[in-house]
Amino acid sequence: MPRFADVILPLAVPGRFTFSLPEGDEVKSGMRVAVPFGRGGKLYGGLVRRLHDEAPLTSTREILSVLDAAPIVTERQFLLWERIAEHYLCTLGEVMIAALPGQLTLSSETRIVVNPFIAEEPVRTDRSGVLIAALLEREALSMKEAGELLGLKNPMPAIKRLIDEGVVIVEEELREAWKPRTLTYVKLTDAAHSEEALHQWCDKLEKKAPKQLHLLMRYVELSRCMSDHPLEVEKNKLLHLSGSSPAALKPLIEKGLFETHEREAGLPAQALIDKAGPSLSPAQAAALDQVRSGLAAKDVVLLRGVTSSGKTELYTTLIDEAVRDGGQVLYLLPEIALTAQIIERLRARFGERIAVYHSRMSARDRTELWVRMAHGKDAPPIIVGARSALFLPFNDLRLAVVDEEHDPSYKQHEPAPRYHARDMAIVLAGMHGAKTLLGSATPSLESQYNAHSGKYAYAELLTRYGDVAMPAITLVDLRDAQRRKQMRGHFSQPLIDAIDAALKKREQAILFQNRRGYVPVWQCESCAFVPNCDHCDVSLTYHKKLHQLRCHYCGRTYPPPTQCAQCGSNRLRMIGFGTEKIEEELAEIFPEARIARMDQDTVRGRQALDRILTGFAQGAIDILVGTQMVTKGLDFDQVTTVGILSADSLLRFPDFRAHERGFQLMAQVAGRAGRRDTPGNVIIQAHEVRNPVLDLVTRHDVEGFYQREIEHRRTHGYPPFLRVLALTLRHRNEERVAAAAADLASALREHLGDRVLGPDIPAVAWVKDRHIRNLLVKLRRSAHHEEKAFVRECIDRVFAQPEHRAVQLVADVDPV
Ligand code: ADP
Ligand code: ZN
Ligand code: ZN
Repeated sequence: MPRFADVILPLAVPGRFTFSLPEGDEVKSGMRVAVPFGRGGKLYGGLVRRLHDEAPLTSTREILSVLDAAPIVTERQFLLWERIAEHYLCTLGEVMIAALPGQLTLSSETRIVVNPFIAEEPVRTDRSGVLIAALLEREALSMKEAGELLGLKNPMPAIKRLIDEGVVIVEEELREAWKPRTLTYVKLTDAAHSEEALHQWCDKLEKKAPKQLHLLMRYVELSRCMSDHPLEVEKNKLLHLSGSSPAALKPLIEKGLFETHEREAGLPAQALIDKAGPSLSPAQAAALDQVRSGLAAKDVVLLRGVTSSGKTELYTTLIDEAVRDGGQVLYLLPEIALTAQIIERLRARFGERIAVYHSRMSARDRTELWVRMAHGKDAPPIIVGARSALFLPFNDLRLAVVDEEHDPSYKQHEPAPRYHARDMAIVLAGMHGAKTLLGSATPSLESQYNAHSGKYAYAELLTRYGDVAMPAITLVDLRDAQRRKQMRGHFSQPLIDAIDAALKKREQAILFQNRRGYVPVWQCESCAFVPNCDHCDVSLTYHKKLHQLRCHYCGRTYPPPTQCAQCGSNRLRMIGFGTEKIEEELAEIFPEARIARMDQDTVRGRQALDRILTGFAQGAIDILVGTQMVTKGLDFDQVTTVGILSADSLLRFPDFRAHERGFQLMAQVAGRAGRRDTPGNVIIQAHEVRNPVLDLVTRHDVEGFYQREIEHRRTHGYPPFLRVLALTLRHRNEERVAAAAADLASALREHLGDRVLGPDIPAVAWVKDRHIRNLLVKLRRSAHHEEKAFVRECIDRVFAQPEHRAVQLVADVDPV
């Protein structure tokens, strides 16, 4: 009979926590238990990891109550958590917090509120009625306060029950819930859906109603209604692209040519769910064969498919096969909000067999999916999600697909665990004996290297679907254009001409500028003084619409200066440009065009993003200006033209990945152009046109870029040849952080020598009132476990010294 349990607590504290088991209750690994921890006797909902009979040396506290009737975390999940904690140098508690939906992580400090999404106000006759009344009045209560109200020392089981019932939810889970959008769709009536009927309609309309005929012709084009798989057409899109008014559509509906209906965006009517899927093109079929034999030979396959080559169709074919006999699939996407289109396509194919999982979903939906999967109760077999989806309790994973595997947003930055979801998906799949498919048009150097070295199998799809040509990319020399005075603001003539041509043809354009705001720098003309943030070592960015200066590091805002703070001169000039400025200049050059901006400032909350994307999809927007957001996965048929305002800044990221990132960003944004019948047209403006990376971008030369960059990495000892560990130290006092960094560096050098770089004073060395020092440690791949253990030891030793104890340290393994 085990008498003790090791429990994982949702805390960043390292160590193993043993509690004695209560009499009577049945406890299993993976169940939550309420336990007291720390001097104040705070309560935590911990997870039982292991039951045993080894009495610890110190006296143990007892588990107060068992919260779950069945495990909610599986043995495999624990193993994955342990791998993550070990690899990314963090605690199991930190992994637990990241992994579990917030509703499942409880402590004395957890704040609860009445669930606003339940239809009726809960009526209670038992004691919890008092609690609910108090919650309705005061809005939120902590677990501790709730316990006092209920007269319970350990209120956790009672609260947990209310959460299970959906009556209350955890406050921090109260975010914008994901509500489906409904749109109106148009399709031919059954009577009209034949070639003959259509001919008759055309004849009739030709004489009497040319506008209606035009609308019909445009519908035929857009719906591909003469093909095997006719599509419905979204009403606003049809009206816009045919240049029609609703008045032209109305009679056609009345006369029985069209019918309309409303439904959730992208979710096709039942009859349209295309179970068989489209037939693959010969190029796709060949690539699929490559992927299949790759999957048979290796655990991981890298699929390089150029933008718009139809990679998604390959994924869906393989997903279909994997779930056919009861297996599960994990499909990871870098950013859910920006990839709604892909989810719509997957929904069309798999309907109810898909569940989407990401942090913007309501707490209840996430928790419910988790618990259903943990209990093995008919959960959907296909999980589509952002990085946190890999933490779900899979029991029979057969395939993991990581789409856009190069995307840096797969890496979590803050807080720990700073894990890379692509890499952990491979680990997860391995634990299930499943395979992983990585896909991208611009694979990461690491994955390409693994494919070259034979660790991964490799497949490629190098033609666009429908044999659409790759976009033509033109470089514009900004120095030259400026010398000849051929610029209008930040626009060169070739870029203006390209946009103009697109607008005339009712096509759309995407413009990419890496900085948001209006201008990044105000400078005094007499003394060159630049206003900085009072709390960070950063110049402030001017935002015109808000008429304020903002710090992009800490978010503080300042009124714009009227005179120089240093010399008092009132002659200030603006240098540089951001998306807001581009938007303004565009409006001057193209007064007729409808322009929208997509960056962190305009996209706050899901609805704003939806509005922009829907507007763009429906053709209500002609030009979309944005930051990196516009480079990701947008697939709009009317986009023919793409402009990159300033390529130089993209190649100047301050680290060893600068060129890789710049190449990927440019190739990805270029790939948004010309995804249907019209080939795309891409204009890249740059001061440094002779940068060899630009030449490789214009030639779509992924392989050439790889060869060039991998040599550089080899020579200078960077990934994939060595592993990198970035250490960041922060403290209010500069001397203290510098001393701690110096001590840590010399401790590390004892064993790692010149593979320790720094301490470095970063370009932005003071953020949110804290001074920063960086160290970069390179670890040998073959010995990274031992070397990491050594690093851990050095950290413990150095930070145990009283003078360094208050210095904050962040360790980031495999930074991106
Ligand atoms: P990628 O992900 O490689 O950029 P997509 O999968 O988005 O490319 O495909 C590009 C476009 O081609 C999409 O609109 C898709 O619907 C279409 N497409 C791809 N393969 C097929 C196919 N076999 N049949 C019909 N349409 C296809
Ligand atoms: Zn001045
Ligand atoms: Zn600041």
